[in-house]
Amino acid sequence: MAEAVNLEEAEVIVSGGRGMGSKENFKLVEKLASACHGVVGATTPAIEAEWVPRSHQVGQSGKIVAPKLYIACGISGATQHVSGMVGSGYIVAVNKDEDAPIFDIADVGIVGDAVKVIPLLIEEIKKTRSL
Ligand SMILES: Cc1cc2nc3c(=O)[nH]c(=O)nc-3n(C[C@H](O)[C@H](O)[C@H](O)COP(=O)(O)OP(=O)(O)OC[C@H]3O[C@@H](n4cnc5c(N)ncnc54)[C@H](O)[C@@H]3O)c2cc1C
Repeated sequence: MAEAVNLEEAEVIVSGGRGMGSKENFKLVEKLASACHGVVGATTPAIEAEWVPRSHQVGQSGKIVAPKLYIACGISGATQHVSGMVGSGYIVAVNKDEDAPIFDIADVGIVGDAVKVIPLLIEEIKKTRSL
């Protein structure tokens, strides 16, 4: 994935966290971002696992962002991450734990396995775009 990314000016950001589970699964985050014409963001654990370059880090130690749409995949909603994206216009969260704190700030919450949910979201977005 490209090192250079303009998170601050992006209108759509799709971010992935530790819950994506592997570098292979993290590619789904990239595919969803591409389907939404957005850019990829990430939490610190996803960066430390080397699934994505550090330039994509959102939060206290990364970029403070305010896109129109922020989709958080497999992200718990720790304050150090949320402080970097809570200014987003519309927040969608996908997490398998219905008690995950990210749902407290999400406008739409999807409880489920991100590895299964993301391909369905991509399919629906593609259908809408081809209408
Ligand atoms: C000084 C300091 C600065 C920090 N700065 C930052 C920062 O800038 N940015 C940042 O992000 N973090 C930062 N952190 C780290 C922060 O505290 C959290 O540890 C981090 O944000 C958690 O990342 P996460 O949500 O990816 O992982 P976790 O907290 O481990 O959450 C993973 C989530 O994935 C869910 N999950 C698991 N499997 C699946 C699945 N298959 N499908 C869907 N959901 C699933 C789990 O239910 C869980 O909620 C900082 C910490 C410190 C101490």
